[in-house]
Amino acid sequence: MSVYTEIKQLAKTLGLNSLYNSDGLFDLGRTNEEFLLNILKSEIAYREEKSKARRFKQAYLPAIKTLSAFDIAFQTSITKQQLDTLALLSWIESLHNLFFLGPPGTGKTHLALALANQALNAGHKVFFASMDKLVHFLKTAEISKRSRVRLTYAMTCNLIVIDELGYLPLSRVEANLFFQFITKLHDSASIIITSNKGFEAWASVFGDAVLATALLDRLTFRCEVIPLAGESYRLHHRSNIFNDNILRR
Ligand code: ADP
Ligand code: MG
Repeated sequence: MSVYTEIKQLAKTLGLNSLYNSDGLFDLGRTNEEFLLNILKSEIAYREEKSKARRFKQAYLPAIKTLSAFDIAFQTSITKQQLDTLALLSWIESLHNLFFLGPPGTGKTHLALALANQALNAGHKVFFASMDKLVHFLKTAEISKRSRVRLTYAMTCNLIVIDELGYLPLSRVEANLFFQFITKLHDSASIIITSNKGFEAWASVFGDAVLATALLDRLTFRCEVIPLAGESYRLHHRSNIFNDNILRR
């Protein structure tokens, strides 16, 4: 591609209409053309960085985790091949949902955060909230601007992460609000849910078997369930005051 054509393309991307439309505008000479091209490239890189930073800020990830830091020798319920497939993020394009299910400390939140991080880096918009927080936003949307803003943002995202579903049972009103939230989203975003409860417990979590079945029907239509078993990573690697020599340093 000639430098001239590249300049035209970048001008279009940046919305610089006069530059884009100015046929034969530049008879700048090679050096000047390259100078202009570099300016346009650096403007694009700058805007991309800004927009990535904005997306990270809006996602409200409680921590930055990566797939490469996930030890599959410790957590053997998931294979390297499965992680590599998830890392490609094509499941976001195809609106598949993911469930990470298992007892505490088995890496559910780590994997959800690492995939959210991967998605943000790839240009996706992500909304992350614990189930408690999400229910709080849903219940206070009428009276709290912050809750409204967060929920409105969620509706524009490609990936929604709901962490720790099932720790607390929901009231009927809460369960209904959650159902409406999922119904609005499930055709436009992928949803990751982490939970210490299996699907059989959803009726008691939502206090209503019919609603739980309808929810599962929507969420599991296109989905991958990833059960994580084993020992808690936290407990296994727990820090211990006497053995860690913290007091002797
Ligand atoms: P869960 O959400 O299942 O309760 P977390 O994902 O929060 O567990 O894991 C607890 C802590 O242990 C986190 O700091 C996480 O990064 C770490 N962790 C868990 N599993 C692994 C793993 N297989 N490899 C590396 N770190 C892990
Ligand atoms: Mg967790």
